[in-house]
Amino acid sequence: TKKLVMIPGPTPVVRSIQDQMGRETVAFGDPDFVKDYKDLLTDMKEMWGTSGEVFVIAGTGTMAMEMAIANTLKAGDNLLIVSQGFFGDRFIDLCKRKGINVDIIGSEWGTIVPVADIEAKLKEKNYKAVTATHVDTATGVAAPIKEIGEVISKFEDTLFIVDGVCATAAEPEYVDEMKIDVLLTGTQKAFGVAPGLAIVWAGPRALERRKALGTIPEYYIDFEKWLPIMQDPSKYFATPAINLIWALKESVRLIKEEGLENRYKRHEKNARAMQAALEGLGFNLLAQKECRAVTLSNVLYMEGIDDVEFRKVLAEEGIVVAGGLGAYAGKMFRLGHMGNIDIHDMVSVIATIERALYRSGKDVELGKGVGILMKELLKQG
Ligand code: PMP
Repeated sequence: TKKLVMIPGPTPVVRSIQDQMGRETVAFGDPDFVKDYKDLLTDMKEMWGTSGEVFVIAGTGTMAMEMAIANTLKAGDNLLIVSQGFFGDRFIDLCKRKGINVDIIGSEWGTIVPVADIEAKLKEKNYKAVTATHVDTATGVAAPIKEIGEVISKFEDTLFIVDGVCATAAEPEYVDEMKIDVLLTGTQKAFGVAPGLAIVWAGPRALERRKALGTIPEYYIDFEKWLPIMQDPSKYFATPAINLIWALKESVRLIKEEGLENRYKRHEKNARAMQAALEGLGFNLLAQKECRAVTLSNVLYMEGIDDVEFRKVLAEEGIVVAGGLGAYAGKMFRLGHMGNIDIHDMVSVIATIERALYRSGKDVELGKGVGILMKELLKQG
């Protein structure tokens, strides 16, 4: 059986993107590669709407998180962490290690932190920045980034840092317009590229903040080291991940072909159809309806289903999903539905879940989930 990798990242990598990774590697000074890199950076800036810079360098989402923090905050600064789960919490240790004073405003898993609570907190003391995780992959909750940006913009000295690792290229993100100062992400989720590149947009205020910090302890992830290269990729600082840059360029070409706005709409449509189908099969979802992400669904098991066994059966039937994190380990599975997946994948996924339920001894009406999914997709046009 073919195995569809439907974990919330890495996501399926389509052939034309794979082909870019399989190309013969050239010198990083190769004029054709330099042009490809430059064109990619120009597209990334334009498409996500920043008047600042974008950095595309080898690394993962966690490194991008560290890059955002290291270039905007120093030891002793106050940071407000808005956390809706495991990945929001990741900023805590990351920042404490740098001597940054962190306050955390969290929510019960499955819910958002109310924007009014964030505003109240910002009035209490001077925060140099706020972090928010657009989609926390542990909970499947999407934060109201636009509203949070609006509130933060009332506080002159406070930068807005957004973790878009499980959101960018699927959930709408307009960097300047949403008053985001730093947006960070990776390639392995909604871009549908293999893991290995970190992408960080930095607006003018973030670049100014970096300058004001002087020399920072971090070396490889220093904006100042990379700025000259992002402006002119024929220059060298550290070797670019040539094949991954080509792969991302192909992903961006596919996004342009689809249209970024259409891509956002497709993700919304697919997610709502998949979520309706899962609920129709009797599952509850962890994320409350009004804050559900479009990139993944965090699906709570019904009575009598064993996590390890269920995911083993699902894999045998052809779909790989991820387990729950933290207190939800063993209690749910996480299903990614982002990137370059199509209707065939969507139908296969829900049909496979039905087969796995059947094999788990559940009284499932075969075809019910498929029916709901297809009706929802057709209804939405
Ligand atoms: N933030 C979020 C929201 C994530 O989902 C992840 C990865 N699952 C990360 C950060 C960390 O990214 P990486 O694993 O690429 O370091």
